[in-house]
Amino acid sequence: MKLHRIAMMRRVCLAQMAAISLCIGGIAAADILRTDVETLSSTAFAGRSIGTPGSAQAAEYLAGRLEDVRAVPLAGNTYFLPVAINEVVLSGASGSLSADGQPIAELGRDLTVSQGLVGPVEIEAAVTLVRYTATSTSFPEGFDPEDLNGHLVIAQRADPPSTPLGDRAGALLGTLAASRPAAVLTATPDLRDLLDVETGASVRKYRLATAADQALGGRIDAGVIDDIFGAADTVNDSGAIEIRTLESTVRLEISLDEVQSRALDEVNVAGTVPGSETQETRILLTAHYDHLGNIDGTIFPGADDNASGVAVLLGAIQRLAENPAEVAVDVVLFTGEEHGLLGSTAFVEAPPISLSSYSAVINVDAVGRPFADQAEFADSIFASAVECFRAIGNALEVGAHETGLRILRFDDVPALAPLSASCEAQRTGTGGAPADQIPFLTAGVPAVLLTGGLHADYHQPGDTSDKLDYDRLDRLSRLVEIAVRSLAVAR
Ligand SMILES: [Zn+2]
Repeated sequence: MKLHRIAMMRRVCLAQMAAISLCIGGIAAADILRTDVETLSSTAFAGRSIGTPGSAQAAEYLAGRLEDVRAVPLAGNTYFLPVAINEVVLSGASGSLSADGQPIAELGRDLTVSQGLVGPVEIEAAVTLVRYTATSTSFPEGFDPEDLNGHLVIAQRADPPSTPLGDRAGALLGTLAASRPAAVLTATPDLRDLLDVETGASVRKYRLATAADQALGGRIDAGVIDDIFGAADTVNDSGAIEIRTLESTVRLEISLDEVQSRALDEVNVAGTVPGSETQETRILLTAHYDHLGNIDGTIFPGADDNASGVAVLLGAIQRLAENPAEVAVDVVLFTGEEHGLLGSTAFVEAPPISLSSYSAVINVDAVGRPFADQAEFADSIFASAVECFRAIGNALEVGAHETGLRILRFDDVPALAPLSASCEAQRTGTGGAPADQIPFLTAGVPAVLLTGGLHADYHQPGDTSDKLDYDRLDRLSRLVEIAVRSLAVAR
C-alpha cells in the first residue's frame, strides 16, 4: 500500500516539478510527510501501543521507510534493536497504611501507590517526614541521608508548590531517593478530593526487563500527615530541611486479586547515513513512534504525538542520504516513550554506538500543530536547553532562519514555563520537559527537544492526521537537516 501510494505521488510531483522546489526523490516533500503521518495514525496501526500488533506493524513500516530513503541499518543487518519490556497487569488492589494496628490511610481513599508496585506489599518500617521548601539548602546538622535506608519516607512541600524547586533543594531530595527508602509517599493537599476511588480496577504497568526493582512511590493525603506530625506551619527559614522520624513503625499492606505478567518483544528502529568525511563524530536524531493504542475500545491515533516527529526525521534523513553531511547521522525511532521513556532508556543502557561519539542529539516530539493551535505560533517551534548547548542552539537558529521558522524557549510562554529549568538541571536531565532526550542528558550527552507544545487534542482520540500542518512539517524537516549540516561543519 505504501509503495503504491508513493509511486503515485512520484508521478504527480514530476508533472509539477517546474513549480515545486520542495521535492525529494521526485515527490513533493509535504505529500511524503502526510503519507507517513496518515499511515502511522491509521486505524490499521490502532494507536501503536507497545505489546500490540499495531506497534509491530508500525516498526515494520518504519524499517521499510528507512530502506526507502537509503539509510542503512545502524547495527548489524537489521533496522530493529530489541527492547525487552515486562508488562504487569494488577487487578483488585486494596490496602492500607496503619500505625499501632490502626489504619491511618486507605488505598484509594487517601493513599495511592503509582510507582514500583508489581505484586502484593507488606512493609513494616520506620516512618520519616521530610518537609522542605523550594529554597531549602541543607539537611539538619548531623543528618546522614543513609539513615533513611529502608524507611517509609513522607515528602512534603511546606511552601506553595507553584514555586519551582531550586537546584539545591532538588539535589538534596535526589540524595534522599538514592538512600534506598522502602517507599516514598508525597503528601498531597486534598488528595481525597482528587481520588477517583477505583481500587478494584486493573492497572497495567510496563518496565524494562533490565530495570532494577523500583522503590514504591505514591501519594498520601496531607491531612493524614498533619494528623500524625502536626501541620506544616512551623517551617523555619534557616533553609534546613525538616526531618523527623516517629518512634514507632508503620505498616503498609497492599493485596491484589490478580497479578498477570508477560514479556513484550518491542523494538527501536534504527538507521544511519554515513558521513562524507568521518564516522568518528556523529549526530543522532530521535523520535518516538509508539502511542497510547486502543483504550476501552477507542483508538488514540497519535498523529501529532508522535507520527509528526517520525515523519519529520524521515524527511530529513532522506535529504541527508541524497547528499551526506560531513559526519555520520544516525536516526533512532523509539518504542515505549508513553510508558516511561522505555525505548530511549534501553538505547542509552546498551548503545550499539558509543554514546561519546555523539556531539548532539535532537529529539523531535509532537511538532505538527502550533502551540494551543494558535495562529500566532504557526511558524514557531519550542526547543529545550538551546541556551545551555550553544552549538546545537546556533545550528537550530541557522535552520530556523533558512526555513522562516522561529525557535522559542519554554519560558517565552507562561503556560509552558514549568517545562523550563536551569542549565544545570537541563544539562543533567534532572529538569526540563520529560521526553526521550532525558536519558541522553542523564548519560552526559548534549541533547535537545523540539516540540510544538501542547494543544487540546494532546493524548486524546482527536489527535488525528487531518489537523496537522504539513507545510510546517516540511519546513521543520528542512530545519533539522540544515541544523545537522551546520553542526557537522562546526565539529
Ligand atoms: Zn505522548
